[in-house]
Amino acid sequence: MGRRRLQREPWRILQKDFCSLVRGAGKPRRARGGCAFSGKFHMKRLVAFDLDGTLAESKQAISGSTGALLGKLLEFACVAVISGGDWPQFETQLVSQLPSSAAFDRLFILPTTGTKLYRFAGAWQPVFAEVFSQEERIRIRQAIVAAVVECELHDQRTWGEQVEDRGSQITFSGLGQQAPLEAKKAWDPDFAKRKRMQATLRRMLPGLSVNVGGSTSIDITREGIDKAYGMRKLAEHSGIPFAAMLFLGDAIFPGGNDYSVFEAGIDTIAVRDVGETRTAMLAIIACLQP
Ligand SMILES: [Mg+2]
Repeated sequence: MGRRRLQREPWRILQKDFCSLVRGAGKPRRARGGCAFSGKFHMKRLVAFDLDGTLAESKQAISGSTGALLGKLLEFACVAVISGGDWPQFETQLVSQLPSSAAFDRLFILPTTGTKLYRFAGAWQPVFAEVFSQEERIRIRQAIVAAVVECELHDQRTWGEQVEDRGSQITFSGLGQQAPLEAKKAWDPDFAKRKRMQATLRRMLPGLSVNVGGSTSIDITREGIDKAYGMRKLAEHSGIPFAAMLFLGDAIFPGGNDYSVFEAGIDTIAVRDVGETRTAMLAIIACLQP
């Protein structure tokens, strides 16, 4: 196979490795370049994805080709999508973009890092939602207001609300929810503002988890909420064990918000971007289809 062909069809290089991972045969191997996977080898029944940076560009709808591939994958396996975003974001970015013929009954949607689960039964509906109490919400909002002043972030232009209450997660966005991408990129390139805000909020909110989210945001949840937590809830609900799951994400590295899934022992495929996810999906479909 010549170099040009390898570049044009990178998934072909990985197909044998993917098939080993997905179908449960052969020896573990790490692909050179491109997608990298960790693996013990079992037949996979569920393929889980991160949303932003993996299936879709940040806050954008999935492409038509990604939607078609998800539809195809649902013919052979269950599919789960887990992200820090709330249900309305999943609805716009993902669910409404899937082919109408897709097997929605095999799809698991896990908003707010798996503290919520949505399933389709004639219509999309929540199966569970673990939300903050009213007292917790008030305490968090008051702390954010005080921390913004203490960190001297109160005197700047913002676009939309700075605080978004997602039920089980409250997110502070330095420039507001509707800030343009350019302004967001320029706001905190060295993480200094977010780190200061994180340290201040951690001091003010003992017992809660305060983490850097996106380029301008801080996420506040109860302790111990990460994607591994969400995947455990998924295993509990679906009856599918970790060994029969495969996870694809763009942040499977120490400090990345997909890393906990790898640490929990689920087989993972680290992708660089949306294009690489599609490549991996082609290989997974080729291995799973009868
Ligand atoms: Mg991501």
